[in-house]
Amino acid sequence: MNESYINSFYDRLPGSYLFSTIAHKIKEYQGVHPEADIIRLGIGDVTTPLIPEVIKAMHKAVDEMAVKDSFRGYGPEQGYDFLREAIVRGEYTARCIEMDPNDIFVSDGSKCDVANIQELFSENVKIAIPDPVYPVYLDSNVMAGRTGTLQADGHFSEVTYLASTAENNFQPDLPKNPVQLIYLCSPNNPTGTVLSRETLQKFVDFANETGALILFDGAYNCYIQDETLPHSIFEIPGARTCAIEFRSFSKTAGFTGVRCAYTVIPHELSKLHAMWNRRQCTKFNGVNYVTQRAAEAIYSPIGWQQTKDVIAGYMRTAKVIRQELTAAGYTVFGGEHAPYIWWKIPDGEKSFDFFDRLLATCEVVGTPGSGFGPCGEGYFRLTAFGDYERTKIALQRIKEKL
Ligand code: PLP
Repeated sequence: MNESYINSFYDRLPGSYLFSTIAHKIKEYQGVHPEADIIRLGIGDVTTPLIPEVIKAMHKAVDEMAVKDSFRGYGPEQGYDFLREAIVRGEYTARCIEMDPNDIFVSDGSKCDVANIQELFSENVKIAIPDPVYPVYLDSNVMAGRTGTLQADGHFSEVTYLASTAENNFQPDLPKNPVQLIYLCSPNNPTGTVLSRETLQKFVDFANETGALILFDGAYNCYIQDETLPHSIFEIPGARTCAIEFRSFSKTAGFTGVRCAYTVIPHELSKLHAMWNRRQCTKFNGVNYVTQRAAEAIYSPIGWQQTKDVIAGYMRTAKVIRQELTAAGYTVFGGEHAPYIWWKIPDGEKSFDFFDRLLATCEVVGTPGSGFGPCGEGYFRLTAFGDYERTKIALQRIKEKL
């Protein structure tokens, strides 16, 4: 095949996907040290099994599929009404946010949704992304040819970076350059920090004044422990005319392998609402019935309690990471309203060098901060998704050996 026909923007992507690079490094280490007892505090995947209410709902839905009268074939691309309504009740009405079930688009993942949404915009719109942040926002726009080229300092020439650092208390300033799409992520992956109501209001006002659109990723909202902190962009006055929200059952209910998420496009954004509907109807087949019944089950009173208990378990692990590292004299952020702990690497060591040192001295794996953007250099991400007791062993090793 003639390679000049391919999308050459893919060549602008910086290296391989962060987690493949890490997996490769671990495999290499294991090759040399087959006896190694590696503790993984790196990857952002859940480890607790599905809650009993979800399993019960799945079994019931499977049984329905075995009976002619209750069998389901193709479902609505936007999601079944029972799930869209349960989401509205459980996530929005419960927080006094008005929401129309027709504004909820159920999908099989927030990764796909945050990556696909840029298709609705022209190729010359300019984007702003937090730095550091979940890499999919940037990479999907690189693939679409919207970012310019990668500079020596790690920035793409046409992207506006919203620095989220300890210096600004992880509350980024408004974009300095004209931008049309603004990605925000709260609680943020990787820093584990939450955007305040004031910060969100500032961005919403800015977007409404300039005609920009906010793409708000709330994949970790259920980890927020303080009820006064904003869980949804739609708690902010004015957001319905300038924001789209992405939510996922992956980290809320351990659905990383099951696959279910949703995107909220307020009907006030009527053009985008219609376009996303058209896109999903053309390119997406909907989430399977069994999974949607499983997702619905987390909103029953028992399901909600079981879901909260699992999250509390992860937050207990987050707390011990924070406590132990702080007691050992390190500076850490996050971990209070998110399953991520953002660890400041002492003495200006580079984050990939620190990765290698932590693996070699403690056989503990984390994620180098630079993989999430230039402002992530000098930091390291640990996650609270691992086993509590194993995490404590990892922390002991860090205290004794690092
Ligand atoms: N958004 C953020 C910020 C994430 O960290 C992740 C997964 O790690 C996702 C979205 C993807 O979620 P999903 O599993 O629904 O694709």
